[in-house]
Amino acid sequence: MIVAKFGSSSLQTIEQIKKIKSQILDSDHQMVVVSAFGGDKFGKKLTDVLIGIYQETIIEKKMALITPFLAYHQDIISALKCQKDYSQLFKEATNRMLNGDYDTCLATGEYLSATILSEYFEMTFVDSRQLIFFSKDQTVDIKRSSAAILDASKQHRRCLVPGFYGDYKGNIHLFTRGGSDITAAVIAYAIDATLYENWKDTDGIYNDDIKTHKVYYDFLSYESYYKLLSLGNRVIHKEAVDFAQLKEIPIRVCSVDTGGRGTVIGNVSQREKYLKRRFSCAG
Ligand code: ASP
Repeated sequence: MIVAKFGSSSLQTIEQIKKIKSQILDSDHQMVVVSAFGGDKFGKKLTDVLIGIYQETIIEKKMALITPFLAYHQDIISALKCQKDYSQLFKEATNRMLNGDYDTCLATGEYLSATILSEYFEMTFVDSRQLIFFSKDQTVDIKRSSAAILDASKQHRRCLVPGFYGDYKGNIHLFTRGGSDITAAVIAYAIDATLYENWKDTDGIYNDDIKTHKVYYDFLSYESYYKLLSLGNRVIHKEAVDFAQLKEIPIRVCSVDTGGRGTVIGNVSQREKYLKRRFSCAG
């Protein structure tokens, strides 16, 4: 079973979202995790927009930030021709942004994207508050989370889960930034996934800044990836790789825009298998 995570860079445009539905998702993707939508319109990530909303203390000014934030989501709903009535969802989101604590406010981006995309992708929305549980020391209670995730995977054929947050004693609790990677890794761990796909706007991992397109890696061992991380090349969250490594689940970093190619991070013994697969794909 494959777990797929779509980051905000792969949820920037309506074209990308349509492509995910028609070309990427299939019945193998039983559990899918999404970040908040890409926030190009705001010139920053939607989570950063939410930080601004949280920090604003004057209610009118808060609303002046919330209104375009929700309008942006409404535009996506319209462009995707979603049919459901989202007025209740928007009411709830507004309440979370106005009255919620920091974690609740910031989780609104993922909560909205997952709810909207669950309709568009025709998947069951399963809230991460029902799947990811934190312990007192802020780490994931992996035993409790695994049991809940396994349960959900048996109950629902295709689940869509918001990344970035979980539950601590009945309240929303966030991972660190980029934490949707971890949500998907915990799910992959719990269901013993055969592969963890992490879809981005880059076709894989390069030896330096991914934008400079220097040396491209087809395959990286977990250890080599950690080394790159220590040099500042942060494509996947370290904690996500930690969970995958515990069960030797390979991670494929791939691009929604260019498809096919992708860097696999895994155990060295998996190298041949994944390189062979790539070449046979290339024909
Ligand atoms: N939206 C959150 C962030 O910007 C989590 C994520 O994207 O993984 O950090």
